[in-house]
Amino acid sequence: MPATELTISLQSAANVLKLGGLVALPTETVYGLGANALDARAVARIFAAKERPFFDPLIVHLADVSWWPRVVLDFPPVAELLAKHFWPGPLTLVLPKVAAIPDIVTSGMPSVAIRVPDHDLTREILRRADVPVAAPSANPFGRLSPTTAEHVRQQLGDRVDLILDGGPCRVGVESTILELHGDEVVCLRPGGVPLEAIESLIGPVGRITPRDSDEQRPAAPGMLASHYAPRTKLMIVEDLPAAPPTSRTGLLILQPSDRTRGYAQVEVLSRDGDLIEAASNFFQALHRLDQAGLDTILATPFPETGLGRALNDRLKRAAH
Ligand code: AMP
Ligand code: MG
Repeated sequence: MPATELTISLQSAANVLKLGGLVALPTETVYGLGANALDARAVARIFAAKERPFFDPLIVHLADVSWWPRVVLDFPPVAELLAKHFWPGPLTLVLPKVAAIPDIVTSGMPSVAIRVPDHDLTREILRRADVPVAAPSANPFGRLSPTTAEHVRQQLGDRVDLILDGGPCRVGVESTILELHGDEVVCLRPGGVPLEAIESLIGPVGRITPRDSDEQRPAAPGMLASHYAPRTKLMIVEDLPAAPPTSRTGLLILQPSDRTRGYAQVEVLSRDGDLIEAASNFFQALHRLDQAGLDTILATPFPETGLGRALNDRLKRAAH
């Protein structure tokens, strides 16, 4: 796109946000469905468009770390340190909110989840709009997260005011979420920044694992056992069976394997087993499998290190 056209669409996106509209925005993790986080009516439109339950709070996006006083009461030293290393980037921090953040953003909780996305176009829009932007993934609730503008168009096209196409998302899994209580840190969701990298910076981090049974009210907000799900039944298997269970079985695997004969469709996430590359391909591969008219998808688990943790988390939810 020529530079002037791009400037016009960035400014239109900023204007739509300021006027209380919905804009689908590219980030490094997945596409977000953004609205002015200080405008409760605009935020309500996000929940309506996604059919998202109100107990699932939203992440608020900032143009840069200097915006923290607009959204949270305090930014403790550990937050400064994490922000310095990982922002802009796929790390979300949960901290006590200021009164200007409406309850609908946080599902009535006193804390708000914030991050600075690592995407130049989106940060430029945030700067121009000059408001923090609440944005969950731009997909109907519980469905696969969108990693291209086309996914957004297919799933929510008629419900958003504007879609900004910034190309495919680079990281491809959602942010790591940390809750901060003073200098105590708890991980609510594994994601795009590996826990190892966080722990080598700030020391051990507590973990919360989502309860498997409670579909009504999750252990951590929004941590429903079933989430990010394809429509096709997905099963996790430790080892691939000698032959696929049906003739319409698809396969989602990390690396090439010599046991893929007979599968109707095979998605290999990384030739070399690179977990970063795998994460960036994960949701796209699931979208393709889900659209291939299969009756079952088999998937093998990822190694529990680095981004493998976030991938196993998404795989379990997709299989639920
Ligand atoms: P996403 O699915 O990437 O839009 O992230 C939204 C998730 O962030 C929610 O489902 C929650 O798990 C988490 N989250 C958002 N706000 C809060 C909050 N105030 N406190 C705890 N977790 C939150
Ligand atoms: Mg989501």
